[in-house]
Amino acid sequence: MMTRAEVISWLRETDPARLEDLWACSDGMRQRHVGDEVHRRGLIEISSYCVRSCCYCGLRAGNIKASRYRMSDVEIWDAVKMAADFSYGTVVLQSGEDPGLKTDRVASLVRRIKSETPLAVTLSLGEREPDELRAWREAGADRYLLRFETSDLKLFRAIHPDLPGRRSDRLAQLEVMRSLGYEVGSGVMVGIPGQSFASLAGDLRVFKDLDLDMIGVGPYLPHPETPLGSGWKPRALRSGEQVPVTAEMTCKVMALTRLLCPDSNIPSTTALATIDPERGRELGLLRGANVVMPNLTPLRYRAAYEIYPGKVCIAESATDCHGCLERRIRALGRRPGKAQGGRRRGPIGEAEILRRSHGEGVLDRR
Ligand code: SAH
Repeated sequence: MMTRAEVISWLRETDPARLEDLWACSDGMRQRHVGDEVHRRGLIEISSYCVRSCCYCGLRAGNIKASRYRMSDVEIWDAVKMAADFSYGTVVLQSGEDPGLKTDRVASLVRRIKSETPLAVTLSLGEREPDELRAWREAGADRYLLRFETSDLKLFRAIHPDLPGRRSDRLAQLEVMRSLGYEVGSGVMVGIPGQSFASLAGDLRVFKDLDLDMIGVGPYLPHPETPLGSGWKPRALRSGEQVPVTAEMTCKVMALTRLLCPDSNIPSTTALATIDPERGRELGLLRGANVVMPNLTPLRYRAAYEIYPGKVCIAESATDCHGCLERRIRALGRRPGKAQGGRRRGPIGEAEILRRSHGEGVLDRR
């Protein structure tokens, strides 16, 4: 078990030889615990409407320059079919926090996907009411993604203005999801203004304490139409050493995440590929990640889902993204997973030993 001081010292490490050790260690842990398969989660960005005002996100309600869309059921279904045709194990329905996406409509979509395809369904629709989360879980949704963004509560509050009468509390939301039986995913941005090394070490600690099934970590990318992207910094946060936004810094966080949470599913994020278009995707997969999220959003909506500017692949069709990611996965000597790829606990070795001594059936519940 790493101490907090050790985590902080790794986060500050710059010696190339020591970093090579860190990458090798996390890659070994990845291989022993989640294997060589790279799971693909087909991402459908179903709505760009948002009622919230997160100070870093281009979808924030106050961004009047953002163009807004909400996909129809037919459009969503076409994208879902592509995920099934490409043998992705999972679709992720993601959006801004959009009350126009009604509880029943999302529930019917989930029910249809679960009854007509073999796909796992992940929802990532922001902070929603416990009753909605329950309805969607009962409709068959398997997983929910909601990043807590930072474990530093002062920083969290400063960059997540509340809605009238509704206090933003992402950790409480994650608890509700857990109690409903979702696989729970969360994560943070690396280098958000006001983030110190100590608070980032705190984030890693929370990943472990929450026993997260999925952990997404990407670099913070400034969006000019947001307060943080236009240079504003909350008063309280002007002191302390700022975590830099680099691919290397992001990889350090991903590698440490793999070491602390060996059997969690960890994506190599699009944001990492955006700050390093040549190698970002690969570096993530070589330094702890075992998941990618090919984009299935119809091309005409891609540019409008601008959480940060310069996102890679916005001009590529779903088929292009599919082919490109498959090539990248195979070039690393890994293979694309075709199953749902939910979380399995314990090292692969242990699972195989069990299988050999008890027959196939014993692991079916996992
Ligand atoms: N409304 C949903 C989905 C938000 S987009 C939700 O709140 O969960 C998914 C993630 O993108 C966010 O959780 C955030 O971590 C990340 N993100 C948003 N703006 C970003 C930016 N400017 N740079 C990098 N990542 C960003």
